[in-house]
Amino acid sequence: MINPTIIDKSKETILWEEACISLPGDTGIVKRHKHIKIEFTDVTGKRQKQKYKDFNAVIIQHEIDHLDGILFMDKVIPEKKKSTKK
Ligand SMILES: [Zn+2]
Repeated sequence: MINPTIIDKSKETILWEEACISLPGDTGIVKRHKHIKIEFTDVTGKRQKQKYKDFNAVIIQHEIDHLDGILFMDKVIPEKKKSTKK
């Protein structure tokens, strides 16, 4: 997925426990849109539109946040923050 853009998203949200290889040992619950529709360029250069839901929708929202300089910890519900770091 090159230059993905969310072009539609559900009002319905889900809570998901996220982690990230950029933040080893940290997890937290983040509220995400349950359904998203994105537009992106594929590896052949073709522009595509695709719908995703649940786990795949969460991952894509997490990764698009990275492109915008946002980490899941910036969005985590504070009382749900966990860390295994010592
Ligand atoms: Zn990440």
